[in-house]
Amino acid sequence: MAATPSTPKLNRDYERRPYWHATMPVLPDRSGRTLPDSVDAVVIGGGYTGLAAARALAKAGSNVVVLESRTLGWGASTRNGGIAHPGYKWGPASMIKRYGHELAARLYEDSVEATTFLGRTIQENGIEAELRLNGYMELAWSRRDAEDFDGEVETRTGWGTPARAIPFERLSEEVGTRAYHAGLAIDTGGVLHPGKWFAGLVGLAEQAGADLHEGVRATSIRRQADGRFVVETSRGAIQARDVLVATNAYTDGAAPAMRRRIIPIGSYIIATEPLPEELARELSPTGRAYFDTRNFLSYWHVSADRRLIFGGRVSFFPTTVDRTAKLLFRRMLEIHPQVAGYRVEYSWGGKIGMTFDRMPHIGRSNGVTYAMGCCGSGVVLLHWLGTKAGEWIAGGAAPALAKLRFPIVPAPYEGRPWFLPVVGEYFRARDRMARSTPPDQSPEGQSPEGPAPA
Ligand SMILES: Cc1cc2nc3c(=O)[nH]c(=O)nc-3n(C[C@H](O)[C@H](O)[C@H](O)COP(=O)(O)OP(=O)(O)OC[C@H]3O[C@@H](n4cnc5c(N)ncnc54)[C@H](O)[C@@H]3O)c2cc1C
Repeated sequence: MAATPSTPKLNRDYERRPYWHATMPVLPDRSGRTLPDSVDAVVIGGGYTGLAAARALAKAGSNVVVLESRTLGWGASTRNGGIAHPGYKWGPASMIKRYGHELAARLYEDSVEATTFLGRTIQENGIEAELRLNGYMELAWSRRDAEDFDGEVETRTGWGTPARAIPFERLSEEVGTRAYHAGLAIDTGGVLHPGKWFAGLVGLAEQAGADLHEGVRATSIRRQADGRFVVETSRGAIQARDVLVATNAYTDGAAPAMRRRIIPIGSYIIATEPLPEELARELSPTGRAYFDTRNFLSYWHVSADRRLIFGGRVSFFPTTVDRTAKLLFRRMLEIHPQVAGYRVEYSWGGKIGMTFDRMPHIGRSNGVTYAMGCCGSGVVLLHWLGTKAGEWIAGGAAPALAKLRFPIVPAPYEGRPWFLPVVGEYFRARDRMARSTPPDQSPEGQSPEGPAPA
């Protein structure tokens, strides 16, 4: 322990890399391998989406190659918070307003199926991914969010995710904080070790017969007169009947149509040293994952080795992991002052793929298939959507998400989100306004002090 609880100060000697990287199996080097001239399908991007799609395609008998410009998993798939939950950015009421009852229910139920599918894939294949299916909890940043929770219980339960609204007075049974107005406990999903799961998925794709390549950047996709595609890469051209773009927040000029639709936003995480058992239980009595309803959201859970894995969207400006570590550390102590004095051992970041309508998308553009746009919730959804993309290319049906139009960003935009600082300030102001009434902190309900808005 480095600091006393009264003077919490962030230690500086943490590792600047994902905790998951330090504790996942080392994957074999797959760079420099001979590339084929012609295949059935080229998958661009070696994360959850690309590998799940490649696995599905290979299982269906297709000859499939995966191209990853860095190393497999280099993107968000081994950097994320490990929270595996159903649902989307929108709650049920907003989903119904946007898509009508029938489609909203179908989309939500697909996300529940996606959660089951992830658990089943891990369990049936004996993947050691530290999967703990204790559900998750949303925490109300504003009184209004707490009221919305009451209205959501019935719909969420009816759509396949048993849910309960937890009032402020009973929050400590679920989470060791007094920083929120109320909670919505959902008994579906949970947490996992993203790196160990990713390593398992690489194994499954390869066992199925997918041909995996690292250090190969796709640079353009061209359609020939015969309908087949030519994918130009940093190591030569490959001909293919089908192409899947699975590059999410890291989409570049190889897929300009998708780059105009995906907004990369930084998300950051710190991991503490392992905490004493009793403290870990106080923070997370039920072992759930947690996230709050802010626009600049926080998300966290206690890892299998009892570290507090605490992440958030803390800056829409270009930043560094040292700066974000400080911001996250302060916010972590606002929510869980109990961890003051415990060291931070890791700090890292990655990019989430936001879309203009805050929904993930699967579809085809000029014959090229794409699946992306997790908006920060891709652990469950993009593994499933990648699988569906692979099955669709192999002749299966498209999922309901394919009904949604993938909106373009309504601004001059080619992948560099110059507007984010302005948008960020707008959302920060909204978070501040939503917090005009802090939660009722004292047992008697008399203290007006909530945590400072971030
Ligand atoms: C810090 C952080 C925390 C998160 N926490 C959670 C969470 O707790 N729960 C949750 O559900 N989701 C979370 N997410 C989101 C989740 O991690 C992503 O949705 C998911 O990993 C995306 O998977 P993917 O395969 O689509 O993309 P990625 O894993 O990002 O892979 C895309 C790959 O494409 C490659 N690439 C790009 N262009 C090219 C090219 N031209 N040629 C070849 N390769 C290319 C990139 O190098 C990259 O490796 C988080 C994300 C971040 C960054």
